[in-house]
Amino acid sequence: MQFVKPCEGYITSLYSSARLDPVTNKGVRPHWGIDYGSATNNKIWAAASGYVRYIGWGHATAGNYIVIRHPNGWETAYLHLQTIAVSTKQYVSQSQYIGMKGSTGNSTGVHLHFEMSKGTWPGGYANHVNPALYIIDSTVKVVQDQLNRLGYQLVVDGLQGDRTTKAVMDYQKSRSLPVNGVADHLTRLKLTKEIAEREKPSPPIVLPIGKEEIMLELNQRQREELANVYQYARELGVFSSDEHEKEMREGKMTVSKAIYLNGLIAGAALADGKRIGG
Ligand SMILES: [Zn+2]
Repeated sequence: MQFVKPCEGYITSLYSSARLDPVTNKGVRPHWGIDYGSATNNKIWAAASGYVRYIGWGHATAGNYIVIRHPNGWETAYLHLQTIAVSTKQYVSQSQYIGMKGSTGNSTGVHLHFEMSKGTWPGGYANHVNPALYIIDSTVKVVQDQLNRLGYQLVVDGLQGDRTTKAVMDYQKSRSLPVNGVADHLTRLKLTKEIAEREKPSPPIVLPIGKEEIMLELNQRQREELANVYQYARELGVFSSDEHEKEMREGKMTVSKAIYLNGLIAGAALADGKRIGG
């Protein structure tokens, strides 16, 4: 059974089946689905084909919601909807439009809370699965690829499993970002900026070859150093006269000549002491 991402948008909250503390009955509340934030297009479509089993209106927590039954006992649920475009018992094909993202019920902003259940929804611990392990999400792929370019070694599959979540958290921690495991706006901004910086092509080195009038701009110490190199090279037989050395010492060396001479010296060094004409 292949499910598709039921809307556009980034994951804003991850699935968590963390149980309540059995003694105090307090602690982490399970989050039985994943949240997809508001996007340019807030249409929702069926993650797979099936029948609309249930439509809920104005539920205190879920708001307006749809439950779809798929083959092999699977069910998907879409919560907090603004509008519902299907009716009970209607057959929907995969990717068919079913409603609009909203913020009905217990919600702080427009998003889709999406759940997957292997068995009748809501199935709690027995039936719920993490949709991020089934839904190939292109926005997750982008983040996995970006993290890999910074040295992480993730499989770029668009599935946000534990490894990807841990990598996102590691990255957020190391960059002093809020640590939540999802590639939120700040994290994406930082990743994109950092990669652009790292992969910025170095500016091409333009050599003013042939422009004899351009004089080498070096300070006294630099001229002395190069002149000494020329002197040494001449002593090794790379150059036949002391003209270059003199020019360099007196600041009369042109850029193109210096490039030519430095090339000869480098060549001589590469030739491991063998004399070359100069
Ligand atoms: Zn949610």
